[in-house]
Amino acid sequence: MVAKYRGKYELTGLKGPIPEEMLHNLDISYEICHEMEGHNHCEQCGRCCYQDFIIVLDSDLERMAEKLEMPLRTFITTYLYRDKGKWFIKKTNPCAFLQEDKRCAIHDARPEVCRDFPYTVSKFMSRVYLALQDNGCSLDLEYMDKEWPCTQRIIAEAPEMLRRIRPDVKN
Ligand code: SF4
Ligand code: SF4
Repeated sequence: MVAKYRGKYELTGLKGPIPEEMLHNLDISYEICHEMEGHNHCEQCGRCCYQDFIIVLDSDLERMAEKLEMPLRTFITTYLYRDKGKWFIKKTNPCAFLQEDKRCAIHDARPEVCRDFPYTVSKFMSRVYLALQDNGCSLDLEYMDKEWPCTQRIIAEAPEMLRRIRPDVKN
């Protein structure tokens, strides 16, 4: 079974417990991402709701079904499909819940991945983690769409945050 950090970040290639130093550095990475999330200035442009795959965790299901006032089974068959043991929203790009005003129809019940985006999502966190391992602190954010307000902020602020926190990193 693949190791998971905080129960949701799959550490591909690691099957046993997370080594202590790795855990320490993952905690630092998570703190950086979480701190940025705290300064989140989402402009609700709706761009991030145009993804091909939007994952829904088991822990999201009941909250979403309740918000839509649907029985759980009806919600699942109407909106979700399952692939390789995971739930995904059926209609995406844009997401079925994106309204014309670019607001999310289920905002306070949206999936955890949407709450975490783009700060504490696995891809950004893994880039922060890799940069922390690298003495040069090179943060590879090439994958980010530079048109989005939130990613522009990350690109502008994350390298400095990494430099500030770097002395705590164990190599
Ligand atoms: S792309 Fe960024 S700024 Fe736009 S809605 Fe998504 S999180 Fe907010
Ligand atoms: S659930 Fe809401 S926040 Fe998440 S992708 Fe769909 S419209 Fe966007």
